[in-house]
Amino acid sequence: MKVEEVKSTVKTQRISAHSHIKGLGLDEAGYAITAAAGLVGQEQAREAAGIVVDMIKSKKMAGRAVLLAGPPGTGKTAIALAIAQELGNKVPFCPMVGSEVYSSEIKKTEVLMENFRRAIGLRIRETKEVYEGEVSELTPVETENPAGGYGKTVSHVVIGLRTAKGSKQLKLDPSIYEALQKEKVEVGDVIYIEANSGAVKRQGRSDAFATEFDLEAEEYVPLPKGDVHKKKEVVQDVTLHDLDAANAKPQGGQDVLSMMGQLLKPKKTEITDKLRKEINKIVDKYIDQGIAELVPGVLFIDEVHMLDIETFTYLHRALESAIAPIVIFATNRGRCIIRGTDDIVSPHGVPLDLLDRLLIIRTLPYAKNEVEQILKLRASTEGLEIEQDSLSALAEIGTQSTLRYAVQLLTPASLTAKTNGRTSITKSDIEEVNSLFLDAKSSAKILSAQKDKFMM
Ligand code: ATP
Repeated sequence: MKVEEVKSTVKTQRISAHSHIKGLGLDEAGYAITAAAGLVGQEQAREAAGIVVDMIKSKKMAGRAVLLAGPPGTGKTAIALAIAQELGNKVPFCPMVGSEVYSSEIKKTEVLMENFRRAIGLRIRETKEVYEGEVSELTPVETENPAGGYGKTVSHVVIGLRTAKGSKQLKLDPSIYEALQKEKVEVGDVIYIEANSGAVKRQGRSDAFATEFDLEAEEYVPLPKGDVHKKKEVVQDVTLHDLDAANAKPQGGQDVLSMMGQLLKPKKTEITDKLRKEINKIVDKYIDQGIAELVPGVLFIDEVHMLDIETFTYLHRALESAIAPIVIFATNRGRCIIRGTDDIVSPHGVPLDLLDRLLIIRTLPYAKNEVEQILKLRASTEGLEIEQDSLSALAEIGTQSTLRYAVQLLTPASLTAKTNGRTSITKSDIEEVNSLFLDAKSSAKILSAQKDKFMM
């Protein structure tokens, strides 16, 4: 049995709460459109963010960073993500929380470096030899299992390909048949078969070359050269961290990441500084050769006051390196002690020399009608039906506690509605879940009122 590695889902979950956001929603002149691109209100912050985007595009942000300062749930993460989206399609966005650097196993600077590299993309252009055609026949040919085994196995597969220049019949390795099955290819579909790899793609389906397998070059029947032969440009977006990880644990497949995972020999098992340096060298070479292009993204560090003086020093230096992402900090703190110092107080808990390099954008609490609009957007993104008076009740809760808390109540409220045999969320569902769950403020209030009943 193969033990599959479980990938962390933390990062994706953190972004999925913002899936309705598509950009900053500014007009030609840079003014915020009240509700656009998934963003509602917070006009000044959005306009300021638009200027930051212009500065980044005209390369005037080197060595500088942004700080979003404002109360919880005022859209700091949302605006940071919108900045990334304004910078272009597929620009990496890596959100993290300051406290993430404190792990018992990994050095603080290591955590930061990893996230830095998650926020730097590499666009790789590959020209692949592909065979393109419409499937006219798909016949697996079976033989008895050798060595007295039971049953039959597919020994090869016959594929008829109808191309622009005529028809061809190919006899291909059984693994191609698996690939065709995985892609649910049927007669009549247009497919691409990559020469010398065996990966199959069905037109109009997934973006990525969906299937890869670990075939040695000799194991499959080489595809014939001829009129079905085309060159196709494939663009792959990876992050530097993907490359580090792929090379630390090479998989040996035929997709881009696996192949990029065989850049280094001998194989390493851990991402080390040395490995990263080697990856950088290869990346530089690819860039020089015009095969790849760097795509700096956005590293979003929430609760920046949780970082300590050591990590600030490290960050400060990292910001100045030649390949750095755009770093956006966020905080809801005013003046506080810089962590790791005894008594140095600074605005937002950020050392003054770093603060000097920051463009600070303020986010303000939302009015009730804005909260209502945002909740409506979220409900429709999540495919939930909600009645107008329940929306208004939820917006009221949002203004009393935080927007995020109100957004979070949507899913449980829809479940309550479902349990009660309704498709639409009513006011009673909202009231019920609001009485069942606590927002952070009420929870803290209860904790302090009943201090003696809890373990210290
Ligand atoms: P915290 O300080 O707790 O980290 P935050 O300021 O980062 O909070 P978000 O997490 O960005 O707040 O906002 C909470 C939720 O509301 C998210 O789902 C976010 O996408 C949505 N949201 C916030 N502001 C807006 C806005 N102006 N328009 C649309 N959606 C928004």
